[in-house]
Amino acid sequence: MSDKAASTQVAVIGAGPGGYAAAFLAADLGLKVALIDPEVNPGGVCLYRGCIPSKALLHAARVLTEAREAAHFGIDFAAPKIDLDKLRAWKEGVVTKLTGGLGLLAKQRAVDYIRGEAAFLDARTLAIKRAPGGQGGEERLAFEHAIIATGSRPATIPSLSLSSPRVMDSTSALDITDVPKTLLVVGGGYIGLELGTVYAALGTRVAVVEMMDGLLPGVDRDLVGPLGKRMEKIFAATMLSTKVVEMKEEKDGVRVRFEGAQAPAEPQVFEKVLVAVGRKPNSRVPGLEKTKVAVGERGFITVDLHRRTAEPSIYAIGDVAGEPMLAHKASHEGRTAVEVIAGHKVAFEPQAIPAVVFTDPEIAWCGLTEEQAKRENRTVRVARFPWGASGRAMTLDRPEGVTKLLVDPESERVLGVGIVGSGAGELIAEGVLAVEMAALASDVKLSIHPHPTLSETVMEAAEVFFGQSTHVYRPLKVVQGRAGL
Ligand code: NAD
Repeated sequence: MSDKAASTQVAVIGAGPGGYAAAFLAADLGLKVALIDPEVNPGGVCLYRGCIPSKALLHAARVLTEAREAAHFGIDFAAPKIDLDKLRAWKEGVVTKLTGGLGLLAKQRAVDYIRGEAAFLDARTLAIKRAPGGQGGEERLAFEHAIIATGSRPATIPSLSLSSPRVMDSTSALDITDVPKTLLVVGGGYIGLELGTVYAALGTRVAVVEMMDGLLPGVDRDLVGPLGKRMEKIFAATMLSTKVVEMKEEKDGVRVRFEGAQAPAEPQVFEKVLVAVGRKPNSRVPGLEKTKVAVGERGFITVDLHRRTAEPSIYAIGDVAGEPMLAHKASHEGRTAVEVIAGHKVAFEPQAIPAVVFTDPEIAWCGLTEEQAKRENRTVRVARFPWGASGRAMTLDRPEGVTKLLVDPESERVLGVGIVGSGAGELIAEGVLAVEMAALASDVKLSIHPHPTLSETVMEAAEVFFGQSTHVYRPLKVVQGRAGL
């Protein structure tokens, strides 16, 4: 290591959507920035091993499913021929293009992108071990401010830690090296259901085991209902309130023993198993103990509203700084931290962080949820618009959706929005705007929405609130002290 340390105003550790958004904004604000990550280009888990590759595969799954279901309205395609090598190459091409683009954007902004791993020497200095693919060696970097954006990794469970190529985590499952005949998905959360959907569309018999009594625990049951019905069709089995207690590799697969309400009496053999039981924050940054940065009980770095840690020169953002572990939350936190560093009077205080589960149908929500309203014993009115009454949903042959608004009965402010249905992930952005802008139900009702589109379901849910929806006749019930339908 050379004795002379290079220096920067802002050092960002980790180049995922949190880290690169922070570094790019810092450069735009005229600060000298270094962005450190082992990968060849910025992107992080989201672009290399998460959101982007999984959404590419989910798009392929959707094409397959739509082609199969077109028989419903008289169009019968022959069985698809799936070229896995080509599908994988296309998905990898998407990742390469996007990460390459980010590398270029970093260069254009004169962000010093350092390919390597950072360790803290103290609260003002990093030691950076250059990645072998880069120049190699180790160097020091003095910083005025550091932003820790090291993300998260898949959680593991000792009883499920079988070291075998048959047992996949979310990263290896994205490689789709083959289409197994049978797959057990452990964990009915975001990843389990999204990747389970991909494998089922490719032709695998997928079984899901979830330890809680419903899929996507914590998400409004109202929204999970229509998804659950469809999952019953595409998955061979869904075992709720059930756990895997033992896995053993055998010649033809993995023998799995279950325990719980819906556990099969005998162990079952699966060709492959995907373990998706949550993620853990990457808060063990080497040398962190040489600073005052504090890590809480659940492993998240403790931060304030400015995303500053207990060490005044160090900030933390994204998955490592707390839930929800979502890319768009990380980017906004990163931009907040940088603005604070630049001396702007800002704080991270969103009213609505949207969440989207990219299953088929998609589930999306933002702001207050019905579960949360019940938990907090808050009186809200819930206005639901069933997609069976939407012309657009019918023309898409997808009438199973629901759009609902949670409205404060006194002020008539929209507090939360929940949507289940095809394309819900795109539609929720209007809900975010409504909640953040403190829109009233009447604002949403009076905003003219284009016809025929699914976006009309948001407007008509607001009409339902006033008992005046054109396409729904249903008097509104108000339940005091808890969420009412
Ligand atoms: P998750 O928390 O969404 O789901 C994990 C599920 O596993 C839970 O339902 C849990 O009850 C269950 N579980 C835990 N232990 C179990 C056991 N022993 N047996 C059976 N079930 C068990 O976690 P995930 O799906 O791994 O995803 C991790 C995180 O990644 C998510 O919370 C989310 O923040 C993020 N993510 C987001 C998206 C998106 O935005 N669309 C997609 C993928 C991942």
